[in-house]
Amino acid sequence: MLYDSTKCIGCKACMGACNAANELELDTEASGGLWHTPLDLNEHAKNIIKLYQDESTGEHAYVKRQCMHCLDPACATACMLGAYAKREHGIVTYEPDYCIGCRYCEMACPFGVPKFEWSKLAPKMVKCELCKHRIAEGKGPACCEVCPVGAVIFGQREDLLAEAHKRLEDDPERYVPKVYGEHEAGGTQVLYLAGVEFEKLGLPAYGDEPVPGTVRTVQHAIYQGFVAPVALYVGLAAAMLRNRFANEADREEHQ
Ligand code: SF4
Ligand code: SF4
Ligand code: SF4
Repeated sequence: MLYDSTKCIGCKACMGACNAANELELDTEASGGLWHTPLDLNEHAKNIIKLYQDESTGEHAYVKRQCMHCLDPACATACMLGAYAKREHGIVTYEPDYCIGCRYCEMACPFGVPKFEWSKLAPKMVKCELCKHRIAEGKGPACCEVCPVGAVIFGQREDLLAEAHKRLEDDPERYVPKVYGEHEAGGTQVLYLAGVEFEKLGLPAYGDEPVPGTVRTVQHAIYQGFVAPVALYVGLAAAMLRNRFANEADREEHQ
């Protein structure tokens, strides 16, 4: 996806469409039961529009947040059971049946995306999967289809990058001269254009290196001092291998 913050009017139609397309309950807590008003991504919100404003300068901008579908996803590296995988169209999928709720993915994600279902008795993680069920039917992501001003569009990454660079070239006064996600954290499949600094919109200034390398180092440190019961270890290892093989087979099928 390519999201252009300078086009977004903050109507939040994409938020409602996301919940409807993914059969997610609405989060009406902050509005006393009236409106879907999540304060951040959470178990009821895979997609959120936030407002940045600086009252002293009058500077303001909207920003859309959801999974970035990283080229080298840290969530997939962190999950020892293979619940996350990069699949067809580069979608980073999440398979709840493989998840034991350890929340390593939540800690590993450089964009704070996977959220835990705190309200459920058997909690899993929640995150955008690029409307994979709609794409399988030949449709686009719900947020892209509903946007009334084309602030978020869907397509091949190289086409979206070309479009983004064209906009920068055609109207340099309008934009910060960078496509966020082209290189950050090793590159993402959700790309951003904006008229204010990306950090002000909550998009961190990462370098070009993918995050999974750091995750692996942390994992090794954790596992070195981790004395698990043998039965649990064997069980986890078996599940991990089964899930990894299933993911590999699925990936090969889609290549
Ligand atoms: S943004 Fe987070 S959850 Fe999404 S693919 Fe990247 S690491 Fe995974
Ligand atoms: S792609 Fe689908 S799941 Fe992801 S933010 Fe858009 S509507 Fe929500
Ligand atoms: S539907 Fe489009 S214009 Fe409205 S808030 Fe979402 S991205 Fe912005």
